[in-house]
Amino acid sequence: MEEKFDAIIVGGGIAGLSAAMTLARGNARFLLIERGEFCGAKNVSGGVLWGSDLARLVPEYWKEEGGFERFVNHRRLTFMDEGSAFSADFKSNHFDEAPYKGVTVLRAVFDAWLAEKVQEAIDASAHPDESFIATDILVEEILKEDGRVVGIRAGEESFYANCVILAEGVNNLLTRQIGLEGDYVPDDYVAVGVKEVMKLDRARLEDRFQLQGRSGLTNEFVGAGSDGVEGGGFLYTNTDSISIGLVLGLKDLKKKGKTPYDILNGFKAHPSVADMIRDAETVEYSAHVVSTGDIRALPSELFADGVMIVGEAAHLLLNAGKAIQGMDYAMRSGILAAETAMEATKLGDFTSATLSNYRKALEGSYVLKDMRSFQDAVHLLHQEQMFGPIPNMICDFGRQFFTIDSEPTEKASKMLRAAIKRHTSYWDLVKLGLKAGRSL
Ligand SMILES: Cc1cc2nc3c(=O)[nH]c(=O)nc-3n(C[C@H](O)[C@H](O)[C@H](O)COP(=O)(O)OP(=O)(O)OC[C@H]3O[C@@H](n4cnc5c(N)ncnc54)[C@H](O)[C@@H]3O)c2cc1C
Repeated sequence: MEEKFDAIIVGGGIAGLSAAMTLARGNARFLLIERGEFCGAKNVSGGVLWGSDLARLVPEYWKEEGGFERFVNHRRLTFMDEGSAFSADFKSNHFDEAPYKGVTVLRAVFDAWLAEKVQEAIDASAHPDESFIATDILVEEILKEDGRVVGIRAGEESFYANCVILAEGVNNLLTRQIGLEGDYVPDDYVAVGVKEVMKLDRARLEDRFQLQGRSGLTNEFVGAGSDGVEGGGFLYTNTDSISIGLVLGLKDLKKKGKTPYDILNGFKAHPSVADMIRDAETVEYSAHVVSTGDIRALPSELFADGVMIVGEAAHLLLNAGKAIQGMDYAMRSGILAAETAMEATKLGDFTSATLSNYRKALEGSYVLKDMRSFQDAVHLLHQEQMFGPIPNMICDFGRQFFTIDSEPTEKASKMLRAAIKRHTSYWDLVKLGLKAGRSL
């Protein structure tokens, strides 16, 4: 057998690069293989990288010019019907201090920047000439000997390692190849995300959204924007562009015979959205599958002899209405798998017995804790009422409440009763309220 790496990482997205950074800092010898021309070339996110794990990987990253776009200090959740928008809006100077709790990113920029940071860590490690980031290479096969993963094959070349970290993202063909996930993924475990990046002069953008320096806004949308299809919209501010898009349930799209691009055009034309993107020019369009955050989608196990599955390859993602958390889950799982690989190197044991510590660490972290705690909220969000009747009711109430038309004014409670009657029923609302109370 050829000389072995300590680890091979398949995929140079956030999960793979986070594992690589951790291994480089731990002086491990590793090979990261990415099929894109460069890290980030093939990746799509809304995208807000939530939480503070980025500071664990790149301390004081906020002092750098590159990498992230803006930090989030202003959040908005908007309910829409055909012509109105009712928002909960929260802005706080608590979010102005680094380390930030959320930063907007453009993946082609961010992943490439993170890959540069990994290369710097390799250069500073004990084995600068024995770890590599190799791009433009597709891993086609996971190699096994005596039932244990021992390496990978890319074209004619085979590479061997003590363990393989699969960070291949949601289209996890290699995870399926080794039997940790079935070939068929139910269509309610995945959604489709469509997104445009729209360029807008920086000064105009900052003026329009009241941004200072590198501060930014995130706006999520529920209701008419998804044209009756399960899902929701998002709008995030970057340095001199806006990311706008939708995440739509595949099953519901199929059932209703609608196409994501038409729905996105309708969303962009909604009066409250059109005002925000006025004069901005579309410079990029992308579409990507994304997990729904249903915990039933997790592979049968996240490790086996010689292998660990990280990030969205393991369907680690939470979308419980407050935010899509896929990138922070990818980051933390990548870090934990790399730490387990280094522990295994010390013990000289890469069997499931040691690699199961990855699962234990993940269970102890916010990743699996939150996925378990908020499963009911994930399912609640997929109920038809959440993207039709409820936003319509909220906007109906808003329209009555904020209208002053030189007629005697009804009490707010009467307006609310009228809105409930028109769009749903007390009984449905009570049931929904109880579910929401339990799940959030
Ligand atoms: C429209 C949309 C909006 C989203 N918004 C957000 C958001 O706001 N916040 C958030 O946290 N998450 C968001 N997500 C989810 C987030 O993008 C993913 O959860 C995250 O990218 C997962 O990271 P990963 O590293 O596991 O996988 P990926 O980022 O998909 O990376 C996988 C990498 O593996 C490479 N690869 C795959 N197969 C092979 C192979 N065989 N050989 C070599 N290389 C391979 C790919 O090219 C890719 O670079 C969004 C997703 C979509 C689609």
